[in-house]
Amino acid sequence: MDPLHGNRRVEAGPLTFFAPLEPLAGIGHLVMTTRAGGLSQPPYDTLNLGAHVGDVGERVRLNRRKVAAALGRKLREPVVPDQVHGTRVQAVGELHAGTRWEQPERALDGTDALITAATRLPLVVLVADCLPIAVADPVRRAGAVIHAGWRGLADGIVEATFTLMAQTWGSEAADLHVWAGPAIGPCCYEVGPEVAHRFGGFTRPGEGDRVQLDLRAALHARLGRAGVNEENITGLPLCTACQAELFFSHRRATRAGYDTTGRQALFFWLDPS
Ligand SMILES: [Zn+2]
Repeated sequence: MDPLHGNRRVEAGPLTFFAPLEPLAGIGHLVMTTRAGGLSQPPYDTLNLGAHVGDVGERVRLNRRKVAAALGRKLREPVVPDQVHGTRVQAVGELHAGTRWEQPERALDGTDALITAATRLPLVVLVADCLPIAVADPVRRAGAVIHAGWRGLADGIVEATFTLMAQTWGSEAADLHVWAGPAIGPCCYEVGPEVAHRFGGFTRPGEGDRVQLDLRAALHARLGRAGVNEENITGLPLCTACQAELFFSHRRATRAGYDTTGRQALFFWLDPS
């Protein structure tokens, strides 16, 4: 079995990325960053791309510039939403290029998914256990990114994204291709009954009244119910908590006694037609 599930590992100077072997639906490019090659110090070591986790701002800026340089000069400046584990989706275009990328600003507040039809405009999701998701619609030539932890997933962030794509461009779920990146796996994701009761069927027994939650399986089931074809669902199903060399994990950091950690990022952009 392919351990990278149709993805490849890319060494770009000191940086290590993962990317699918083929563009998503033939139109979407994506890059998943890892911890490698950045300037941040513990517990943000080293390629922390999150500007709101307590790291030194200048280091985050330099880390982000390293990634932007590796992505290539033909792209616009990336767009970063202000993620809050909610269900708000916003449409962005060329004029949003660079939003929240070089510095904090009051834009795209409280937003956990972005949709766009603009080409060469990287949409960003920052994660450290939550699912980073890219969506491509090859028929309407549109795309989206989604930040989905248990709360956003249970509250319907994925469906909200599909709804806004349908309202904006007439996107149909049967046409969508979805890629879901590294997130905390059921091996490491112990949750209490207040979370478990939102995810019946995607948990297995743990210690006491705790259970192990399979966030990715819950996502796949929701995608199926929304009308996405199973063969159009791909991703890189690695566990962020297990893969300590590669990824930041909030849960792993908490267990080690830290109250914060860095963020890796999914970058997703559409090709010019
Ligand atoms: Zn694990």
